[in-house]
Amino acid sequence: MIDALKNIVGSKNVLYDGLEKSRIAHIWDTDMPLRTKGVILPKTTLEVSKILQLCYEKNEEIIVHGGLTNLVGGTLVEPHQWVISLEKMNAIEDLDESAKTVTAQSGVILEHIIAAAHEKGLFLPLQFGARGSAQIGGVVSTNAGGMRVFRYGMTRSLVLGLEVVLPSGAIISSLKKILKDNSGYDLKQLFIGSEGTLGVVTKVCLRLFESPTTRYAALVAVQTFDDVIRLLRFMEKQLSGNLTAFELMWKTAYNAATATKQQSASTLSKDFPFYVFIESMGYQLGEDYEKFEYAITAAIEKGLVADGVMTQSAQEVNSLWMIREDTRALTQPYAFSQHFDISLPIGVMDKEIATIVKHLNALPYVQNVFPFGHIADGNIHLIVGKKDSIAAHTKQINGIVYKNLRKHQGSVSAEHGIGLDKKAFLKTSKSDQEIALMKTIKQSLDPKNLLNPGRIF
Ligand SMILES: Cc1cc2nc3c(=O)[nH]c(=O)nc-3n(C[C@H](O)[C@H](O)[C@H](O)COP(=O)(O)OP(=O)(O)OC[C@H]3O[C@@H](n4cnc5c(N)ncnc54)[C@H](O)[C@@H]3O)c2cc1C
Repeated sequence: MIDALKNIVGSKNVLYDGLEKSRIAHIWDTDMPLRTKGVILPKTTLEVSKILQLCYEKNEEIIVHGGLTNLVGGTLVEPHQWVISLEKMNAIEDLDESAKTVTAQSGVILEHIIAAAHEKGLFLPLQFGARGSAQIGGVVSTNAGGMRVFRYGMTRSLVLGLEVVLPSGAIISSLKKILKDNSGYDLKQLFIGSEGTLGVVTKVCLRLFESPTTRYAALVAVQTFDDVIRLLRFMEKQLSGNLTAFELMWKTAYNAATATKQQSASTLSKDFPFYVFIESMGYQLGEDYEKFEYAITAAIEKGLVADGVMTQSAQEVNSLWMIREDTRALTQPYAFSQHFDISLPIGVMDKEIATIVKHLNALPYVQNVFPFGHIADGNIHLIVGKKDSIAAHTKQINGIVYKNLRKHQGSVSAEHGIGLDKKAFLKTSKSDQEIALMKTIKQSLDPKNLLNPGRIF
């Protein structure tokens, strides 16, 4: 295998015999050296194809590594498995200003694509905390969401074309720059969000938008959950298309996120039950600010908002946004934490989250529970700070959070995926028939179960 791999990618691009130990399986586990047969670093799609073909012939299992920021154990490796890492396929191949598209190799860091588009006056609306490390191939493979989903959709809605290598080594390339294509099955959708179980994404063509020229943000305090919902509808109407994010933090999460002096700059009193981060982006300089200011003032006058701060300089907007984005303050005080990423219909959310929080807080090993999230999408994140990592305790916490998801037709994973960590709970979101069909698809593309085996099911 080693000789064959060296022939394909060159000897310096196969890391084994101790060299692989300098690598990691996740950005948060930097003290855990990788235990793998070896790390393979292809530079072209053809090399990826030859690697997968070789693994297929030799029955070798292979795990795909992108930016290693996933939150579901998707990139964990066992010692008998190989790793294929796309980091050397890191070129932006084409940025087409007239078609408003960008075509990039899968190892390009998301933030680099955002910056390259911005330089041309174009905008890729993907916005989430890991954008400085996540690679576009990983982002597509997890169908990442983030803060602007309710305006622009998940990654899925931004992908126009994909190039993928199947487990057999076959290259399926369709990097079309067109939005509309109903010529048969939309095959790219199979690979978006399938967590590397069906193929290795090697190139991506994404849709871009005109870069907004105005960006304003407000942080507002709200007294009841019903008011949060009313406020969302009110802002959508008032901002007529300019509302790009509407993020909620429950009081416990907000207080922890603003615990340090640096984080609490220009923020509100900490006594309110709910805090909402509102972002407006548009194209009309004076008019947009007036519209935003009027909407916030009117929300206060209507009693939907109890207090608020508005920002307009880019620096102020970014630092306000960091309170919501930087979740380290919610995890650092605790020896261990569990992260949840559930979807619920907005109508049941308040009661359901209150029940979950009450039951979790009653457990002696739970130290704190922080709910926050993309409320406009019905997606709530929960971080549970706890004293230990005992398996029975983890299971009990999972049981409480996931208990009513099926009843409410929610989802065990709104955006992070299933990976290894949530396999046991796939059935809370998908029927037996759906899971059977998913397995049929996996079986037909990867009959030997060699690519990212054990992920999802
Ligand atoms: C601080 C933080 C905030 C986050 N916020 C959000 C958020 O708001 N919304 C959200 O949706 N997610 C969020 N995430 C998780 C998000 O899913 C990932 O960060 C990102 O999309 C994964 O990209 P990656 O390159 O790091 O992929 P990795 O973690 O390397 O891989 C993810 C999965 O995709 C597979 N994979 C990677 N590259 C490829 C490829 N080229 N072809 C096929 N399979 C591949 C891997 O095997 C793995 O199963 C957050 C993560 C962090 C750490």
